[in-house]
Amino acid sequence: MKLLVTGGAGFIGSAVVRLAVSRGHAVVNLDALTYAACLDNVAEVADSPLYAFKRADIRDRPALDAVFAAHKPDAVMHLAAESHVDRSIDGPGDFIETNIIGTYNMLEAARTYWINASKPETFRFHHISTDEVYGSLPTDPSVQFTEDTPYDPRSPYSASKASSDHLVRAWHETYGLPVVLTNCSNNYGPYHFPEKLVPVIILNALAGKPLPIYGDGSNVRDWLYVEDHADALLLVVEKGALGRSYNIGGENERSNLELVQTLCGILDELQPKASGSYADQITFVTDRPGHDARYAIDPTRIREELGWRPSVTVEEGLRRTVQWYLDNEAWWRALQDRHGVGERLGVSAVS
Ligand code: NAD
Repeated sequence: MKLLVTGGAGFIGSAVVRLAVSRGHAVVNLDALTYAACLDNVAEVADSPLYAFKRADIRDRPALDAVFAAHKPDAVMHLAAESHVDRSIDGPGDFIETNIIGTYNMLEAARTYWINASKPETFRFHHISTDEVYGSLPTDPSVQFTEDTPYDPRSPYSASKASSDHLVRAWHETYGLPVVLTNCSNNYGPYHFPEKLVPVIILNALAGKPLPIYGDGSNVRDWLYVEDHADALLLVVEKGALGRSYNIGGENERSNLELVQTLCGILDELQPKASGSYADQITFVTDRPGHDARYAIDPTRIREELGWRPSVTVEEGLRRTVQWYLDNEAWWRALQDRHGVGERLGVSAVS
């Protein structure tokens, strides 16, 4: 397939690009290169004849039309977004513009291209979204998000993603645009920008700094290794039923405190401190406003219809992630130096 991947210089998009090229797909990576992007994330495929990069902003409709016309993709995988919940609370404007208006532009550019495409029957538009659109769950473990759970977004980030999901479904119902959607739980893994919970914990631990946890650490998230997510996304773009949504989760629910304690245990093993445990650095900080209590995904549909399941447990995935950060100091130091991130106390406990 010839894939147009938006946001392919970000965390999840770059995992999709690396995996897609390794499986023989041609990829055009369209990315505006915001603060969250890093082209080093795709360095291992940059010289492949299957890979091309185009710097463009999804808020710029003429630029999108030009990319469609030049590259004639078989499918779009739309990941470009503003993704950090805390930033959406501090300044929601970019989230409205990129996540809503930008997705509208992508839909219209894709529709114009698809109507005139030589093989319109095989084209598809895959919209990548989050489980945060469903809102917050009670702690009862028998209750999980299904694809039929009503939307109830509670942060500017999740509201902007929910809006984009509704637009994508509307373009399918109204114009017949062939779409598939996925809503995924919290990702972690290599190349995670050092403002998110898992890298902040690893890097603060190594620097001897406090390990900040919102509230009492009881908020629960379902954690998915990013390479398993990329694998699921490639399956859905190829085999997902048109007009259908698929929830993707790791079946790995952990409270934030449990997650941080697990990370500390792995660090104690792989990079022991002179004395004591990294867990001694855990610090509880004032909770985020409107902090959702629990997210949990029921992945029955993607498992039964497409045969997908995650390949690693959260313990194994976190171990690989810690080892990756230990082995790739140049990558995260460059980002920290460029952006001064990774030291804020109010870290994201979600995506
Ligand atoms: P990220 O912030 O790491 O990367 C986003 C990428 O999009 C960056 O490369 C950035 O440069 C690009 N981008 C941002 N605004 C753009 C614009 N206006 N035009 C073109 N490119 C632009 O995000 P991520 O964590 O990789 O998330 C990717 C997608 O997956 C997002 O849509 C997000 O909502 C969704 N998602 C993320 C998670 C998670 O845990 N991180 C979970 C579920 C769903």
